[in-house]
Amino acid sequence: MSTSKSCGCGFIPTVIVPGIGQSKTVQLDEKGNVIKTSWPLDIDMKLLKKKLIPSAVRMLLFRHDLGFSKKLKSVLCEALDPLKCNSDGSQKNNIKVVSYNYSMAECSAEEKRFIRKMVPFERFADLVGDDHVFYFSFNPFGRAYETIELLHDYIAMVKEKTGHDKVNIIPISLGGTIVTSYLDKYASDGDIHRVVGIVSAFDGSTVFSDILSKNIDLDNYEELFVNLLGKGDGGKLTAMLKKIPKKLVKLYINIILDSFIETVLLNSPMMWGILPAEQYQELSRRFLSGKQHEKLLKRTDEAWRVRSDFPALVKKARDHGIEMFSLCGYNIRLFAVASDHVTSDMIVDTKSASMGAFCAPPGGTLPDGYVQQNTFCSAHDHISPDNAVDASAGALPDTTWFYKNMDHEGCAVCDNLLTLAGLLISGDEITDVFSSPDYPQFNDFVCKS
Ligand SMILES: [Zn+2]
Ligand SMILES: [Zn+2]
Repeated sequence: MSTSKSCGCGFIPTVIVPGIGQSKTVQLDEKGNVIKTSWPLDIDMKLLKKKLIPSAVRMLLFRHDLGFSKKLKSVLCEALDPLKCNSDGSQKNNIKVVSYNYSMAECSAEEKRFIRKMVPFERFADLVGDDHVFYFSFNPFGRAYETIELLHDYIAMVKEKTGHDKVNIIPISLGGTIVTSYLDKYASDGDIHRVVGIVSAFDGSTVFSDILSKNIDLDNYEELFVNLLGKGDGGKLTAMLKKIPKKLVKLYINIILDSFIETVLLNSPMMWGILPAEQYQELSRRFLSGKQHEKLLKRTDEAWRVRSDFPALVKKARDHGIEMFSLCGYNIRLFAVASDHVTSDMIVDTKSASMGAFCAPPGGTLPDGYVQQNTFCSAHDHISPDNAVDASAGALPDTTWFYKNMDHEGCAVCDNLLTLAGLLISGDEITDVFSSPDYPQFNDFVCKS
């Protein structure tokens, strides 16, 4: 392990680059005063219901739309407005990220509580010390390319504060898309030691391309609502919707999707960065071909170029001494979308988290007579014992771990995964999937509460 310039602790500081729901942002007025929390969305449900109820009652009574869809759309777009970007990709409102420009040791008790709720960082801090773990929060709907520059500054700050000349990075979920572009631009800086992806959306998520192309199974809306709102509220909403004609239900789900696409997805560089490279080309040309999107398209194309060639990215990283690892889930169907052949952790495709592993559909096995592809490794057996994953087709065949039936949130309670991630950032005991029988390439997800 490379040693530090002056700290002398023998460890390397770690920067966590978290997922979509794991940063806080606030909306400011012209004078810079905080108006409200903009992310996680702080929707006044009482007010929302009050606005919708009169037209909803009319619609339910007469079993005809009678203007409810129009009302629904305006109410939703208003509620989602704090996340909205302009057509050039800039934020519509004045948004500030709540950031932590210091280590966990310097965080207040409240900040620690928030971060711990998001990521069990103590699992890493226990190993390398509170003062060697940092949490890089960012605006998950903003300009990805600006976030990359902010991460660059953040890493410089961590080096400065700790006296180390290298850091480890743990990208979680959406954080993976930031880190791919970051490595493309800044791997040559030589200040990254290891990248340890956790359910990392290196190549985005089909959930987002399915939403954008409306590839949603509307006949199965019950599952959609239960997934979105939980069993209680989702069940109540489903029961209510059963009282109105299915045609209307489909209309309203379409309105919800349109509001989300128009307000949150369409102009956001970060959201375009989370579309899998394979679907990006077609969708970006369909939605961003107008003159008003020219600037945005140029930037999102740059990020796509990186996602479309992981072997090149891994090579670039290795050429600069960066070791890359990935820990991902498989065998779960994607979140209520129509791409039910995609194995995932429910939110991120396993193919994305593993940079290209070939996977059977959830619950299925590789085709009859399937032969290991050996794309990136022919020296080992990289087929999972359940014959569902071929890791040799991924860009990191020897350093990707798979957890069967682990959902996206499950990574936070998966003891084996967290211990492994800790070992990877704190020492050289584990260098690949063959280093220890305790950490084989393929695992069953065991939840430890
Ligand atoms: Zn140190
Ligand atoms: Zn191998």
